[in-house]
Amino acid sequence: MNSKNKEITDDVITENIKKRIQDMNIDFEPNDEEKLKLNTVRKTLYKLYSAKLAQFRRVRDKNTGWFIYYWWHDFDKLNEILLEKEQNLISKLRDRINYELNNYFFICENCRKPETRFIFDDAVDLNFKCPVDGCGGNLVADENKELIDFLKEKIGSLQDTIKNF
Ligand SMILES: [Zn+2]
Repeated sequence: MNSKNKEITDDVITENIKKRIQDMNIDFEPNDEEKLKLNTVRKTLYKLYSAKLAQFRRVRDKNTGWFIYYWWHDFDKLNEILLEKEQNLISKLRDRINYELNNYFFICENCRKPETRFIFDDAVDLNFKCPVDGCGGNLVADENKELIDFLKEKIGSLQDTIKNF
């Protein structure tokens, strides 16, 4: 998209990337004969578009009747958008910490699968028995101090990243 030619189509973007990765041993479509599909580029462009980082203009080709999409990037807002995402993530992590602090958790002592972790009320409903088929192990208290410390660390490192913006 960073082309000198302002009018660039998804086809040309695909060809440009293919040329650039030719000698770089990068394979965007492992287990596929093609190295980079036009469809993959299109999907990525639409992702950028929905994240407000790319724009397009659509023109109908008079000969074929097909639509041609001309793309350009809109990276001016990149920092702003990243910042918003980081802040969003921090607030989700804070919610999770509060959830962890405000509940007692129980987990199956037998299989210890993540899906056998319950808050107190649900563990009561299950009679403190694992609901996984064929298990039936006891649900025992699950310490969450390590998890909370981990979440706090994560928030700390995200805040450091934001400071460096
Ligand atoms: Zn179990």
